[in-house]
Amino acid sequence: LLTGCSSSDRGGSTDESSGSATEASGFAADATIGVALPQKTSENWVLAEQLFKDGLTEAGFNPIVQFANSGVTEQQNQIQAMTEQGASVIVVGAIDGSQLGSQLEDAKDNGAYVIAYDRLVKNTDAVDMYVAFDNYQVGVLQGQALLDGLAERKGDGPYNIELIAGSPDDANSTPFFEGAMSILQPKIDDGTLTVVSGQTSFEQVATQGWKAENAQKRMDTILSGSYASTELDGILSPNDTLARAALTSVAQAGKDTPVITGQDSEVESVKSIMAGEQYSTIYKDTRELVAQTIKQIEALQKGEEPEINDTESYDNGVKVVPSFLLTPVIVTKENAAEVYANDDTLAPLTK
Ligand code: BGC
Repeated sequence: LLTGCSSSDRGGSTDESSGSATEASGFAADATIGVALPQKTSENWVLAEQLFKDGLTEAGFNPIVQFANSGVTEQQNQIQAMTEQGASVIVVGAIDGSQLGSQLEDAKDNGAYVIAYDRLVKNTDAVDMYVAFDNYQVGVLQGQALLDGLAERKGDGPYNIELIAGSPDDANSTPFFEGAMSILQPKIDDGTLTVVSGQTSFEQVATQGWKAENAQKRMDTILSGSYASTELDGILSPNDTLARAALTSVAQAGKDTPVITGQDSEVESVKSIMAGEQYSTIYKDTRELVAQTIKQIEALQKGEEPEINDTESYDNGVKVVPSFLLTPVIVTKENAAEVYANDDTLAPLTK
């Protein structure tokens, strides 16, 4: 249906002149906008769904916002259908950043503008821009928080720690892990930190599908195999869901609460932080990320250049994707009230 229509066949289009990722020709003020979200692996995605529906409707667009709870094939089909419905922009939070190339190429051939949302789309030219919180910086903040928490709660080192990473198909998982390891690796090398299980590579520590049960099972195995008579002082966790899973495992093993990091400022984790259990999380205000994405769509609608503030950091294997990066914020018990002051859901939890 769509393959016969490449962008170079489209008469009168302005976007064939340069290959510049930020070129736009404008589209109807009531255009269809597709938003393809992944699975509900954390609260931020559920928040994003409603914010996109409301925000795009309010801006006058016709939104199609969909989760792909059953996986990659469903997401591929959804994107294909959005293209067939003539979406002018497709916003993608990819389940597997490397599996959407042909659907997004079709979307672009059909004149759609493709925005990677929160997660980068990899190994394809068919992505125009990326809007996200800086993922590498998230990891850096997590690594530093783990060190700070250990010094604060566990006295002088050396410390025994374990590492957890996100799902290997999510393009964010590597920058999260590499950012954290940029801080932790030197401390492993100088003997301040020991990973008692010996599991330090991304492949060894990744958590398929970001599933709590997978992280919990892996932690159960590590605790019985490596910590029978040893203290576990700290855990690097890439997000709140997996942090709570790891804490459950530790509690079931009858061990003391380790210093543990997180991400997303999920309600249960913020409560845990205020209770002195989980050490840290990251605040990535979903309202801000969705608002910024909609702002980009409104600019494109008018035929204006979308706003880009980074043209070096996010190489998807084929090109460096022009990005608008927002700044993530580390949260501990100490600064939670201040960081969440303008968040109606989280601020009351800090009182
Ligand atoms: C998001 C994280 C989230 C994870 C699991 C990542 O791509 O950036 O905020 O914790 O997906 O849903």
